[in-house]
Amino acid sequence: MEMNVHSAEHNESNKDYSNSMNFDSQELDGDEIDRNNKVVIIGAAESGVGAALLAKKNKYEVFVSDYGTIADKYKDELKENNIPFEEKGHTIEKLIDAGFVIKSPGVPDTAAVLSSLNKKGLRGVSEIEFGYSFYSGKLIAITGSNGKTTTSGLIYHIMKTAGLDVEIGGNYGISFARILTDKNPDYMVLELSSFQLDGIQKFRSDIAVLLNITADHLDRYDYDIMNYAASKLRITENQTKEDHYIFNVNDDLISEFNSQLPIRAQKHGVETQDYQNGITSKEDAKQFEISIKGKHNLFNARCAVEVARILEISESDIAKGLATFVNEPHRLEVVATINGVTFINDSKATNVDAVAYALDAIEGDIIWVAGGTDKGNDYSPLYDLAKERVKALICLGVDNKKLVHSFERYIPLIIESTKVSSVVDTAIDLAKAGDTVILSPACASFDLFDNYVDRGDQFKEAVMKSKLAKLSRRGAEDAEC
Ligand code: ADP
Repeated sequence: MEMNVHSAEHNESNKDYSNSMNFDSQELDGDEIDRNNKVVIIGAAESGVGAALLAKKNKYEVFVSDYGTIADKYKDELKENNIPFEEKGHTIEKLIDAGFVIKSPGVPDTAAVLSSLNKKGLRGVSEIEFGYSFYSGKLIAITGSNGKTTTSGLIYHIMKTAGLDVEIGGNYGISFARILTDKNPDYMVLELSSFQLDGIQKFRSDIAVLLNITADHLDRYDYDIMNYAASKLRITENQTKEDHYIFNVNDDLISEFNSQLPIRAQKHGVETQDYQNGITSKEDAKQFEISIKGKHNLFNARCAVEVARILEISESDIAKGLATFVNEPHRLEVVATINGVTFINDSKATNVDAVAYALDAIEGDIIWVAGGTDKGNDYSPLYDLAKERVKALICLGVDNKKLVHSFERYIPLIIESTKVSSVVDTAIDLAKAGDTVILSPACASFDLFDNYVDRGDQFKEAVMKSKLAKLSRRGAEDAEC
């Protein structure tokens, strides 16, 4: 086994963040869950419905309650499984006779329904903690501000390539609880958001990966990045010295917390900066071929390889996995090339850090499509890149004032639009062969779209339409010759 770039010693220091770990004394841990009981689930999307199904399967009496409208596909599932539910509001009388409450990660701790139930003496458990109480295999948990899905998917892919019995879930599509309704695999790869980590008590991963911490979701953390970071670090909280903790050595916040907290797991620091050396096979000392591009993905791949080596996966399976991995869409996804101009969909880049990596990964001039709902962004880390590489910024948002104001000194041409098709037409007019048009918004999508998937899909569709129109024009011209 290859491990321990850093030792597991704890440095003494005068700062202590352990109080910001936000333990909620009202929360149950997995061992305290009464198995013969009525359970109430607050929030009925993927996690809540997954928890409801797992609870039902384990003979609980289950009731689901959602403050908003429940999506039809989830309502149908609840009905099919004879699970009663309510939507568009909580009826406290229907909830208080439960033994305990399972809270979906999307419901903030400050939600009025939770404090009402707490006051009545009801205690809560999160969906992740509830699932954990049923799982007996080995857990690989991945968190961070950016790269969770990519890294989780790559780890899963390498493990599958090696023939292991592994499932993937959590923040990655299928909820942990739902997977456990019909499987208990040897290994579980879990992508975890900070909201999911907020609710853990006993949850312990055999291998934890912490990729990076940059400002995101601060509205749920009293606008204090220290609270958000403390939440991410909870991934190490219950680890023992048998476990492994893989982290970004170049991330100042992570380093600071690592030196404060009594982390027991074996530490593996991973380098983000060393771009020349790629990742080298221990078998033949050659660099692995990695299917996903960009410096950030080299770092993500290094973390995945670290996990694979801890699991003693062979170097040849690692090589195969790295070369054949196909990432989820909307992450630096190459859509098409039109007139020598490459179109990239990076709709999932909803914060400044992700955009910085995206712009940096591109060679040649860039036409940058950005904007949407601003999450309190500080754009200054992008100014140098914008000045050097971006020849035009097309703002795709309802309110673009901040974006325009931030970049008017650095980018010669800024155009605003609220229509994806005209964004693509404008980009085609402005670009010349060798340029790249990238949708990498740095913002949330909710001003104009359902979500980042909808935004990315509309962008891809518009690009493909333009490509088809161009091809049919060329076909018509050829026919006339
Ligand atoms: P998450 O699941 O954490 O949101 P994704 O893998 O979905 O992460 O990637 C989200 C965005 O962040 C994409 O635009 C991607 O190109 C970018 N990204 C991926 N890995 C990293 C990383 N290590 N550091 C910074 N940005 C990254």
